[in-house]
Amino acid sequence: MPHSPINSVEAPPVADDPKPAVAGDEAAAGVFDRARWNNRFAGLPAAFGTRLAPTPLPSPYFVAASAPAAASLGIDPRELIESAAIEVLAGNRVPAGARPMAAVYSGHQFGVWAGQLGDGRAHLLGGVETADGVVDLQLKGAGRTPYSRMGDGRAVLRSSIREFLCSEAMHGLGIPTTRALAIVGSDQPVIRETVETAAVVMRMAPSFVRFGSFEHWASQNRVDELRALADHVVDTFYPACRDAADPYQALLAAVTERTARSIVQWQSVGFCHGVMNTDNMSVLGLTLDYGPFGFLDGFDAKHVCNHTDERGRYSYANQPAVARWNLYCLAEALMPLIDDVDRAEAAVAPFKTLYTDGMAASLHAKLGLVEERDGDSALIDALFALLQDGRTDFTIFFRRLADLGWGTDEPPRPGRSVRDLFVDRERFDAWAVDYRARLMQEGREAGATRVAMRSVNPGYVLRNHLAEAAIVAARVGDFTEIERLSRVLQRPFDDQPGAERYADLPPAWAGSLEVSCSS
Ligand code: AMP
Ligand code: MG
Repeated sequence: MPHSPINSVEAPPVADDPKPAVAGDEAAAGVFDRARWNNRFAGLPAAFGTRLAPTPLPSPYFVAASAPAAASLGIDPRELIESAAIEVLAGNRVPAGARPMAAVYSGHQFGVWAGQLGDGRAHLLGGVETADGVVDLQLKGAGRTPYSRMGDGRAVLRSSIREFLCSEAMHGLGIPTTRALAIVGSDQPVIRETVETAAVVMRMAPSFVRFGSFEHWASQNRVDELRALADHVVDTFYPACRDAADPYQALLAAVTERTARSIVQWQSVGFCHGVMNTDNMSVLGLTLDYGPFGFLDGFDAKHVCNHTDERGRYSYANQPAVARWNLYCLAEALMPLIDDVDRAEAAVAPFKTLYTDGMAASLHAKLGLVEERDGDSALIDALFALLQDGRTDFTIFFRRLADLGWGTDEPPRPGRSVRDLFVDRERFDAWAVDYRARLMQEGREAGATRVAMRSVNPGYVLRNHLAEAAIVAARVGDFTEIERLSRVLQRPFDDQPGAERYADLPPAWAGSLEVSCSS
């Protein structure tokens, strides 16, 4: 297997068209062979990656599939459990029409230039035509590539389940994200802190291009490749930028806008990414590369979900500033094309306002407020001080707030009111008086406010302990909890009778769960 040294700055050689691990024959043809492939990323110059087939996974078995993700591809999910599909999902057979490759990129990791990285354990099979445009399909965990460095090219079942559940949960929350079509597993051992087993996730996105994809060419002064990548991204995803006086400046401004919007959404549901390195930042503003992510349980602005992040660089509260820092890395990478520091600065500078205004609007919506008035920020600051001091559950607080005694004939059930979440109830009551008074200033009818609040404050998020329960069951061959949980997370804003336990406070043992970069 080809293997480049760690942080090599040389692009690896490009192989000839890879031989499929097992030749795709007519008899074995399945749903992926019938897809209309459009391998537009593979059409970029050869230096953008290495063409190679995935490494076969021994005796693969089906673990899970997302019915809505399948539907978005025009696939009947039942087709994914056919052996022809499983062989493709495992990387054991390359479907007719696919052109598998691993892409090269670089990036800043934890604020430090890390040099060359790349798809160390991901194979882009290619793009398929769908009703919503071309969607790239990638196998994550399908073996080593020239960018694997010291890694084994594999992903463990645990992290694959977490990625599968969270990408589909984020989609359910309406947050831009890569998606996950299916997982297959194998008994093949994979060594992490302990011996685990291998799995492969097929993930989907219009593009997996990262900020680090641009940094890669800029760091090597390869302006032709940099321009080719920028042109590909503009023409394919940001066509309006082509009409701007400087399309590359317009691209930077557009990526800034999308990134700000996504970060507002993350903060609004308490999502912590965990590893916001520039190689994990999508140029489409998608949530990308699910590793040690987490959702806030008890509110703590300083929460660090990644156990490996000892200095808390990627804490919840730091995410907006880190996104901005990453955008400046992208701006620097685009300098050879924009060629004017002030114009690049002008494209990125709006991030602060976009984020601040977006967050203010989002918090107003979460509180059921339509208008923005003087005094609102004091009300919001007081609330966050209250949540912080009480480590109040972030999701449950906002979900229950809609029931604070208006627009519903149902009295709150004992033990389930928003007030019950606080130890210092007098302090909450004092805040609630101000809040109610503020709500009364709104022209909206109370019932409508309640409906609006429940449409933005989810009842269900992928808490670590919920993922853990699905993982524990899957390790002994029971995949039903993945299925149940993913169905609940597909409709996070709906009350789902029978699924109440997924909306409950985390159990005491959840506090001892640790997630790290090990995946
Ligand atoms: P991450 O922090 O997960 O974004 O990974 C950083 C880089 O390491 C990426 O280029 C990954 O492709 C690569 N990588 C992570 N885990 C592995 C692995 N087990 N085998 C090969 N490459 C890996
Ligand atoms: Mg990554």
